[in-house]
Amino acid sequence: MGELILVKLGGSIITNKNVPFSEDLSAIERLVKEIHEARQEKNFKLIVGHGGGSYPHTPAKEFHTNEGIIDQGSYEGIAKVQDAASRLNRIIVRELIKTGENAVSIHLSSCGIAEDGEIKEMFVEPIKKLLDFNMVPVPYGDVCLDLNKGCTILSTEQILNYLGKSLNNLGKEYRVSRIIICTDVGGVFTGDPKINKNVEFIPKITPKNFEKIKQHLIGSLGIDVTGGMAHKVRHMLELAKLGIESEVIDAKKPGLLKKTLLGEKGIGTVITKD
Ligand code: ADP
Repeated sequence: MGELILVKLGGSIITNKNVPFSEDLSAIERLVKEIHEARQEKNFKLIVGHGGGSYPHTPAKEFHTNEGIIDQGSYEGIAKVQDAASRLNRIIVRELIKTGENAVSIHLSSCGIAEDGEIKEMFVEPIKKLLDFNMVPVPYGDVCLDLNKGCTILSTEQILNYLGKSLNNLGKEYRVSRIIICTDVGGVFTGDPKINKNVEFIPKITPKNFEKIKQHLIGSLGIDVTGGMAHKVRHMLELAKLGIESEVIDAKKPGLLKKTLLGEKGIGTVITKD
């Protein structure tokens, strides 16, 4: 059976989180090149999600979009967050296409609906068809309309969690084999390594040890409205329970994303069933 790999390019690696609306083009170019090279060396299907970093986080913070429709300004917030998130998405898609990958944007703001901040439903038929064509769907952390609070922000991890579950048991010729979360640190630590130097690396997270380590997983540096490392790990653990393993790697180090795509394990933090 063939593999389907889900990759997330973190906001901290594709943008400069401290400067609004600033992408790191050289990092993006290197990452998409690694993706393309891996796809040429090995046969696998691929979804590339990405965080928003300093793009949507700026208007999301200004309009409190994650809190829902709270005043008349909220509607302007929805429009501006969607615009900002999709502008960064166009850059990722454009760079993937330049390498030779047939990448296509997936906008959750127009193909999904949330309820209390969680994805209730997402129309995945186009994604399945793109995968059948061996094309590369590119979803991203986006604003989403919410049946209860009006609007919300959905993280890439929430989207990959939903896709992992809905694409895993299709009885197709492929199954979700792995999730790769690219950050700018070496994996998951007992605290944010950018803030605290006395933190320890966590090589493996399982449902069993998560209860103990979750108190350490605080929000990420700068601006992050979707809740930092604990949020990411929680969503990946749900997939681990279904047998889909994830790995959080330091994709700032050239070559690590490619190696991980080609099957190397244990480069970063592995999130697994046991
Ligand atoms: P997003 O796309 O959600 O912004 P990032 O890839 O930027 O995702 O998130 C990774 C960031 O999380 C790192 O840059 C790191 O500074 C921060 N972080 C916070 N807590 C931790 C932790 N316990 N272990 C590793 N990184 C952490």
